[in-house]
Amino acid sequence: MTSPAPQVPDSAGIAAGQRPLPPVSQVRPGIWSIPVPLPNTSLRYVLVYVFETDAGPYLVDAGWDTDEAFDTLAAGLAGVGTRIEDVQGVLVTHVHPDHYGLAGRVRAASGAWISLHPADADVLSWLDDADLVRDNLAMLRNAGAPQEVLERQRRRLRALDMFGNSPRPDVLMEDGARPDVPGWELSAIWTPGHSPGHLCFWEPRHRLMLTGDHVLPRITPNVPAPRDDEADPLGDFLRSLDRLAGRGACEVLPAHERRFTDLDGRLEALRHHHDKRFAEVLSALEAGADVAWDVAAHMHWSRPWQQMEGLAQQAAVGEASAHLRALARRGVVREERGEPARWRLMERS
Ligand SMILES: [Zn+2]
Repeated sequence: MTSPAPQVPDSAGIAAGQRPLPPVSQVRPGIWSIPVPLPNTSLRYVLVYVFETDAGPYLVDAGWDTDEAFDTLAAGLAGVGTRIEDVQGVLVTHVHPDHYGLAGRVRAASGAWISLHPADADVLSWLDDADLVRDNLAMLRNAGAPQEVLERQRRRLRALDMFGNSPRPDVLMEDGARPDVPGWELSAIWTPGHSPGHLCFWEPRHRLMLTGDHVLPRITPNVPAPRDDEADPLGDFLRSLDRLAGRGACEVLPAHERRFTDLDGRLEALRHHHDKRFAEVLSALEAGADVAWDVAAHMHWSRPWQQMEGLAQQAAVGEASAHLRALARRGVVREERGEPARWRLMERS
């Protein structure tokens, strides 16, 4: 994936640390939220949602593949009166390792099926053939990153193994699919952007929207650099926000942070956030920046650009590239392909 960082919120302020996880909590009778710890991230945990059925529990998302996460998930399930061995299905919102990573171990322990949208299953397929290090360095080179950054990032990426033993999904979950979770009326909504096959799940009877990383209460999900000349991940992301709009009163069950209620208000705030970003990109181009690296340096991030490095910096450059591509699709800027790609403001008539 061009941006392997599972989640690099650009407005995060949570200090990484030893704060305890929030407790397992009941969302509705028969639905539980289990915080499962993440290694080395300020997000601290992913929220795994459990739907009880007569056949056994079904999960939405699984967690990162660590022993601690597995033990916490197993203990959480035991605490609500079921067992990890009884899990019937794992509906994964997207392929990033903090959501998908642990699904294989849950399947090994229980025989559950694992589902993923086909576009995220494709990500697994091309990861088999592609070299993640090479692809990420190509993205940075295309953005005009300096040579010393490329060298540093090469060493960092080689030390990572984010998708090492990813399981294959058993079920491909298309847009509009009704997952087989007895007693619950879940339907899948394809919301590409944060990943190409990101899914949200809607439960109309209880008016619950499970949003994965697509909509979080406080932070904004990373939108990666376009993978090829055709891709417009930020345009996809903004259209995917519209897909959740206008449902009236509901409760949002995100995969990080906490549950909340004003979905339409949050969708509007996310659109506004990206409008501000577009304005920053245009003023960077007006100031003479013409590669994504320099545009990113002009933008505002949760940390000053000068202090950024590693995956956070790579994610920032990816975001800048995604904004540039979306503006090109709108006819506001022009892309001159090359290494690096150069971006020009279109003449305003
Ligand atoms: Zn995540």
